[in-house]
Amino acid sequence: MNEAPSGGAHPELRAALIAALDERAPRVDRDRVAACYEFAARAHGEQLRESGQPYLIHLVEVCRILLDLLESRLDTTLVCAALLHDVVEDTGIEAEDVQKRFGREVASLVEGVTKLSGLHFDSREAAQAENFRRMLLSMAQDLRIIFIKLADRLHNMRTIEFLREDKARRIAAETRDIYAPLAHRLGIAGIKRELEDLSLRVLDPEAYRDLIGRVQARREEREAFLARVRERLEEGLKAAGLKAEVSGRPKHFYSIYHKMESGRDFEAIYDLFGLRIVTHTRNDCYRALGVVHDRFTPVTDRFKDYIATPKSNLYQSLHTTVLTEACEMVEVQIRTREMHRTAESGVAAHYVYKQGGHVDEELDAKLGGFLAQTADWQRSADDDEYMDFLRTALYQEEVFVYTPRRELRRLPKGSTPIDFAFQIHTAVGQHTVGARVNGELVPLRHELRNGDTVEIITSAQAQPNDDWLQIARTAGARAKIRAWLRLRRHDDSVALGREMLERELKRLRQTVSEAALAEAAGALECADLEQLHARIAEGQISVTQVVRRLSPAREGLAERFAKGLPGALGLGRKPTGGVRIQGIDNVMLSFARCCQPVPGDPVVGIVTVGRGVSVHRQDCPNTFPNRLPPERRVPVEWDSAIGETFPVRLLVYGQDRPSLLADIAKAIASVPVNIRTAGMASEDRTVRGVFVVEVATLAKLNEVMAAIRKLPGVTRVERRQRLIRNESAARPDEGQA
Ligand code: MN
Repeated sequence: MNEAPSGGAHPELRAALIAALDERAPRVDRDRVAACYEFAARAHGEQLRESGQPYLIHLVEVCRILLDLLESRLDTTLVCAALLHDVVEDTGIEAEDVQKRFGREVASLVEGVTKLSGLHFDSREAAQAENFRRMLLSMAQDLRIIFIKLADRLHNMRTIEFLREDKARRIAAETRDIYAPLAHRLGIAGIKRELEDLSLRVLDPEAYRDLIGRVQARREEREAFLARVRERLEEGLKAAGLKAEVSGRPKHFYSIYHKMESGRDFEAIYDLFGLRIVTHTRNDCYRALGVVHDRFTPVTDRFKDYIATPKSNLYQSLHTTVLTEACEMVEVQIRTREMHRTAESGVAAHYVYKQGGHVDEELDAKLGGFLAQTADWQRSADDDEYMDFLRTALYQEEVFVYTPRRELRRLPKGSTPIDFAFQIHTAVGQHTVGARVNGELVPLRHELRNGDTVEIITSAQAQPNDDWLQIARTAGARAKIRAWLRLRRHDDSVALGREMLERELKRLRQTVSEAALAEAAGALECADLEQLHARIAEGQISVTQVVRRLSPAREGLAERFAKGLPGALGLGRKPTGGVRIQGIDNVMLSFARCCQPVPGDPVVGIVTVGRGVSVHRQDCPNTFPNRLPPERRVPVEWDSAIGETFPVRLLVYGQDRPSLLADIAKAIASVPVNIRTAGMASEDRTVRGVFVVEVATLAKLNEVMAAIRKLPGVTRVERRQRLIRNESAARPDEGQA
């Protein structure tokens, strides 16, 4: 452990901190705080800030900001972690040391903050999504990590003029884009305002100076006027027996800048100097509103009741804009003291420490489920969807609209009737065909405005489509639309895959039990039959692969039967010639086993990769243009003088009866044709036999088939033909199961 270097502890800073805690957060354990202070003082030693001041000043200032934010809610653990928040990052102290000295909770907060300082948000989108995930996950786990981080960032911004310009700009941009929106989302308006103004000063110093000058000039001009309005209001409130304070509102340069950036004239921004009335009770807010509207003319459509419907960052107030006799507009906000604290500190004003640092569910519900949603999206969404969620959750302003029953609904700014419909109910969203806004039909992409009354027109036939993803603004609606589209695509895939497989099995005259199919699905690493079907349709698994999985078992059974037939089995020669290819000599030839052509069959040659030309029957589905590019087809014809035999696999179906197998074998032998393998399997009262015969010509084959067909009990005889995997369609040995 480091020894305390002399002179580094700055006892006067410690005394000031303890005094501030004594005064405003008496339940904080001063001895533990003092111990943390000493530890941090030793760890940071003689370290200085870029400003040249001792590092300890930063730590104490962070504590002061937290004290302003949380007041008496500040807890010992939070103060300790704030004092130690940089020791792991900036000194040689290990996280375990912190844990040993100050316990798991302090250590885990310090660790959380340390992890966040490693995240930079100016990187590629994908990395950004990952950084956001980490930050918001830590926030959802323990809000205090974000409190410390915001306080840390605020003090760093207050002292940013000491940094090199490029570094300062990077930090300011990150503050404007990430930390200010986060503070806003959590309702911490006091910190948000200051972060935005400080980053504006770095990012556009000229505009910032210009604004200060103009606001100052305007203020002098407006001061006397506002004083008169204020006086009349105070008079009215007093006459109504209301205890309330009227005051001016703090200027927020960044918001003026932002309004001007979006095209508004400075002179037209009339809420530059608004007034605020703070009352004692909620009821008094409405009574005060009456006084305001009694003394001045309200501007229609400018009244907003955020008390009845708080913003999703907990903000509550009545907003109204009135016109004075001089035809000047003044915006007035009315709120209780409690609401005022919430308006400044947001979630921090409601924060109650829970064992383990978990966030109160009730509080989260007031935040519109932001924290729970963050955790949910954390798990479920891919990066694009996650950023989409964040864009809505963090960056969007809100609009308030009415249902036809005059219920107020809160939506992100830019929302359309689609968003509204999905917010009402998923089923309403899915069946939306149109919308009326304030009684008039509007297109679905119509942007909703404050105070609109929105009515959704639905139809049972309506369905979401891809365009809706462009129209919907809320992450919730977009996620529901995506899910619906995905599901429909999935359903389509499953149906198509099922049809493909059934068609093939039917073509092969195979009847397969559900259980056998499920087993094949498992063997092909599908969770169930549905997934198997979907993957067939998506081309990830071929029908042939499935058939191949199904067949061995059956043929194994067939072969067991075959063993009882001595003399019928024998190996044939491999065909080596027998066809001519127009204009080409010396080509390696083979006969496709999927369709087993015999002389007399119309045939086609398929150029294979590294295996010469494979000869298929022309009706073999493996050669169809949808499975093979046409340039791989070459015309071939049979050589008249062959004298070779070719194996053909025959499938025989019929009713089971004694000695059927022997009768079939006898019929084949009588043609005469050699039998290479023979076998039968019976199930219930039907049989299925597989015979591989060796024939020299199609005529001989037809004779064999006719002879079998004549036998009593036989219902069907056919040549087997199998669909094989696309890319290897022309490979001669692929058809062999
Ligand atoms: Mn720091």
